[in-house]
Amino acid sequence: MQSSPLPSSTTIRCYCAAVRLQVEAPPNSVVHCHCGQCRRLSGAAFTTWVSFPKTAVVLTGQEPLSVFKVTENVTRHFCRVCGSHVFTTDARLPRTLGVPAGALDGDFPLAPTAHYFVDHKAIWHHLCDELPRFGGNSGTQPTPARDSR
Ligand SMILES: [Zn+2]
Ligand SMILES: [Zn+2]
Repeated sequence: MQSSPLPSSTTIRCYCAAVRLQVEAPPNSVVHCHCGQCRRLSGAAFTTWVSFPKTAVVLTGQEPLSVFKVTENVTRHFCRVCGSHVFTTDARLPRTLGVPAGALDGDFPLAPTAHYFVDHKAIWHHLCDELPRFGGNSGTQPTPARDSR
């Protein structure tokens, strides 16, 4: 059976739609991150990160972006009007743009491949899928599934 080709075009949009980016490539990766930064960044139990090749993403709106430099390497970009997080860049990964999955068109199919920082996740959130889990202090050590995690 032949599988259908990966979709390679979608829109990244903030809550108020002032910021729009067009993506012309399939994602490099899709993962869930349960670290405390990602919880606070999204205001939810975790952030689902979609990584795209930076060269495939084009700003098409008026670009009312505000920038929050988290560390020497990591910079988060927000809509200046509504405050939505629309993407993050990391100087250590210069060819990649990290996008919160919720900012993508909802009919763009995504296949998350793993959970990271599972030892940092909120205790009220329960993982109920069979995806590989990574945790420990680094958030990236293979971690067997446990009932409580
Ligand atoms: Zn906005
Ligand atoms: Zn995280």
